[in-house]
Amino acid sequence: MNDVLPDEVGRWQRVEQTFARTMTLYGYREVRTPQVEPTPLFVRAIGDTTDVVEKEMYSFEHHGDALTLRPEGTAGAARAYIEHSVSAREPVTRWWYAGPMFRAERPQRGRYRQFHQVGAEIFGDEGPGCDAEMIDMLVGLLGDLRVPGLEVFVNSLGGPETRARYRAALVGHFTPRAASLSADSQRRLRTNPLRILDSKDERDQALVKDAPAIHEFLDAGDRDHFARLRAYLDTLGTPYAVDARLVRGLDYYTRTLFEIKGAHEKLGAGNTLLGGGRYDSMVADLGGPRVPAIGFAAGLERLLIASELDTPAALVDAFVAPLGEAAIGPGLVLARDLRREGLRCEVGTRGGSLKSQLRRANALGARVVLILGESELADGVVQVKDLEGHTQERLARDHAVRIVADRLVAASRGLGKERP
Ligand code: AMP
Repeated sequence: MNDVLPDEVGRWQRVEQTFARTMTLYGYREVRTPQVEPTPLFVRAIGDTTDVVEKEMYSFEHHGDALTLRPEGTAGAARAYIEHSVSAREPVTRWWYAGPMFRAERPQRGRYRQFHQVGAEIFGDEGPGCDAEMIDMLVGLLGDLRVPGLEVFVNSLGGPETRARYRAALVGHFTPRAASLSADSQRRLRTNPLRILDSKDERDQALVKDAPAIHEFLDAGDRDHFARLRAYLDTLGTPYAVDARLVRGLDYYTRTLFEIKGAHEKLGAGNTLLGGGRYDSMVADLGGPRVPAIGFAAGLERLLIASELDTPAALVDAFVAPLGEAAIGPGLVLARDLRREGLRCEVGTRGGSLKSQLRRANALGARVVLILGESELADGVVQVKDLEGHTQERLARDHAVRIVADRLVAASRGLGKERP
């Protein structure tokens, strides 16, 4: 679990704002659900033989309630969707969320115990059109975040009957070879054989290579859904590869499944930036109506490692330097007037010499310093020092605000910099 200090928060905010803007452009609305939910919700939604439920949940008892810090966002969103009878009010629901998630994993680069996800869900649309749109939207978003080396993988898991037939075929394939599987996969063979395909263990991977592929088991409806998804992606010009071994760690997926990876050099083994898929049975399984759904979640920490966006360098536009106690009050008023013009501003309320205040202004990235000394106060003027143009002029106090504001706004337009 990490602290995020102010030096890094600028990048976090840029990624969060870019995400929120993208979501709004695509018609999603933000939902905020609790960070603690009843444990059975996650067990039912995610599946009791998944790694997350088996070993990674922070669960506790409180006054007889079994509670868990949410390890992901979809179960809570689905619970809220059901609890508030949202489907009765709107045929299609598009929600996004952002916030901390908790998993008791072994920490390593790009893998933490409290991490942050941004994600979204669409309830009420079963066609592959919204699946393709979601994948294409995410490729665009990662482009906006300047993430290099993107790779998109898609797969189809079919519906519950397909999964059952595939499961039986995997059991048939692995059982005679069980002795060569890792201990974990020997256990998965009994509980959740699809998860063997996910295993990173070399012994398992050797046997996975020859395992039957899910596509042989898809029924006509699944096949048509998957073919249309790929056709829409082709029409959108979204690059992707089909990965027949992609199953992902959570049990709730049906049909469409996808993952987007970023450049390996930066991210190492944890180079999966985001993952998602369809979960057409979950809402009904949780006691809600029969409503199909699809969603994704992206890890913010990983997006930040992968993104080449930099922080806005300057912390302020202007610095007001009062020289002497008598100038502090007028300096505060001057700074407030500048802020009302939309300029970021700090005042040297600690006092100190002009030299030390100029040093502070430089460190903050200020473009101008407004100096208020005894003689300036007496004459109703300020000294306006331009730290980039290296000029200095005496301006009437009342005009200085307007002139400085106009100049900085014009300069920022020239640089294409957004106004704060
Ligand atoms: P999942 O909910 O497991 O499908 O994960 C979706 C995304 O969340 C992953 O692709 C990662 O970017 C991120 N993620 C999952 N677990 C962690 C973790 N422990 N630390 C950091 N990011 C994570």
